[in-house]
Amino acid sequence: MIVALVAMAGCGASIRPLPPLPAPVPESYPSGGTARVPADADDTSYFDANPLMVPVEGVQPSGVSDSFNDRRDNGRTHRASDILVPKGTRVVAAESGTIMRLSRNALGGITIYMMDETGRFIFYYAHLEGYADGLAANEHVSQGELLGYVGMTGNAPVPHLHFQVMRRDPDRHDYWNSPAVDVKPFFTIPGQVRASNEQ
Ligand SMILES: [Zn+2]
Repeated sequence: MIVALVAMAGCGASIRPLPPLPAPVPESYPSGGTARVPADADDTSYFDANPLMVPVEGVQPSGVSDSFNDRRDNGRTHRASDILVPKGTRVVAAESGTIMRLSRNALGGITIYMMDETGRFIFYYAHLEGYADGLAANEHVSQGELLGYVGMTGNAPVPHLHFQVMRRDPDRHDYWNSPAVDVKPFFTIPGQVRASNEQ
């Protein structure tokens, strides 16, 4: 580009200034990124009764980055946990529940919204490379069931799973904007793939 401009300038053509390059956009999400709620006693009871699995195969609870309060663009904070693993690593259900929606958005890339069996939480998985064969909305999945594969779709500078847990309000239509809870302290089960028929 610079060479071309110099060449054009050399032949006397009038050159309009190029628009500035867009600034790199830090990772951010339209969903659930604006509010947080502190974990409360009911959350603690829930995770005591329903131990939380790291949703990436082979990752220990200690391997989940402490990134919930990281700053992002426009004054946002991250409100999610990033799990950095190679592309293609298997993503599994953190709890048993129901697939709410499979969707793609500019920032999150290929994503999954899932609700736990009690309806208390929504789990959001982003930047997937793709879905497990046959995964569909309204399907029940068991903890550890294969959901998809880690990728870098959307605004992901490196392969990782962006995992967000939101407190669900059944009366709320825009559930993707539900307030997020930092669940890093609640991970107790290392990520592992369990057979989908093991119910
Ligand atoms: Zn993230």
